[in-house]
Amino acid sequence: MTSMVKAVSERLRTRQDDPHDDYVFCTNDRFWFRPAYTDGKCPLCGAPAPGGAPEPPLLRRMDRSWFGLAGLAIESLGMLTLVLFMYFRG
Ligand SMILES: [Zn+2]
Repeated sequence: MTSMVKAVSERLRTRQDDPHDDYVFCTNDRFWFRPAYTDGKCPLCGAPAPGGAPEPPLLRRMDRSWFGLAGLAIESLGMLTLVLFMYFRG
């Protein structure tokens, strides 16, 4: 029984050697966080991450409103083509 409780608590406890992709471990408060979403600082104590703030992903760096404008432009070109086709061929 005691060994089972110990195994469960071992599994629940955060350890520094756990593999975490793009996560950083804060040794002050034993907390895993992703510096890409916290400006390179620990969200609990504010200590800077060892690697600093990494580059945000490509979709977060781009202004996504341009995708909407490009979609509207493509759609209006398609509508123009349809109207001209129906006018001359229909
Ligand atoms: Zn911290």
